[in-house]
Amino acid sequence: MDDRADARDRLVDRLQRSGPIRSSRVADAVRTVPRHVFVPEDERDRAYEDAPLPIGHEQEITAPHLVGRMADLLDLEPGTSVLEIGAGSGYHAAVVAELVGADHVVTVERVPDLARLARRNLDRAGYDDVALLVGDGSRGLPGGAPYDRINVTCAAPEIPEPLLDQLANGGRMTVPLGDAPRGSHTLYLVEKGDDGVDRTSHGGVRFVPLVGAHGFSTAD
Ligand code: SAH
Repeated sequence: MDDRADARDRLVDRLQRSGPIRSSRVADAVRTVPRHVFVPEDERDRAYEDAPLPIGHEQEITAPHLVGRMADLLDLEPGTSVLEIGAGSGYHAAVVAELVGADHVVTVERVPDLARLARRNLDRAGYDDVALLVGDGSRGLPGGAPYDRINVTCAAPEIPEPLLDQLANGGRMTVPLGDAPRGSHTLYLVEKGDDGVDRTSHGGVRFVPLVGAHGFSTAD
């Protein structure tokens, strides 16, 4: 086995033992996606640390334990449609693609340079079928709605209304929420049902901000 696959295995074992990854399907997905392909060259040695890493434009690739925890909360099955807000490096979308099938994932990125980076990384790692668009994901993507799942990978001041509208009945959304763009946030699971919308808190987290019409007006 190559060193990187070995390091990835050890990371997943730790994340299963310490709690953030519960399902074996999610563990397998994190074991499969080569995170080193998604991190910048000069950070590659750190690809299998459980840490966020800089990807440019003051943005970060999400830490593996959060990618695992969010995938668990979303309860992803093959064929489930997923809208992701914040492609960043493309890593999180690749893990989700492992679980639902690449052609069921669409991700939106606000920064054109990062969208290009995510596209290149996804293609290199074999996830060409993940759809990627540049735009303000706080408005969602009405053309493909409703979505079974929505994964917001940046922190919002409140649940963006268009995303709630575009979530299917019976659907789930993971979204970090907080008062300030930079600082501490709380991860929420949002479930939409016949009787309305339920949200449960899943602990303190730190994300980069969702900047847009239904997000923060500035990044600081
Ligand atoms: N899922 C990514 C995490 C990237 S960090 C990964 O695994 O690498 C969050 C990303 O959300 C950043 O790239 C940021 O530019 C993007 N973002 C912030 N506001 C956005 C918006 N309104 N629409 C789309 N993307 C947004």
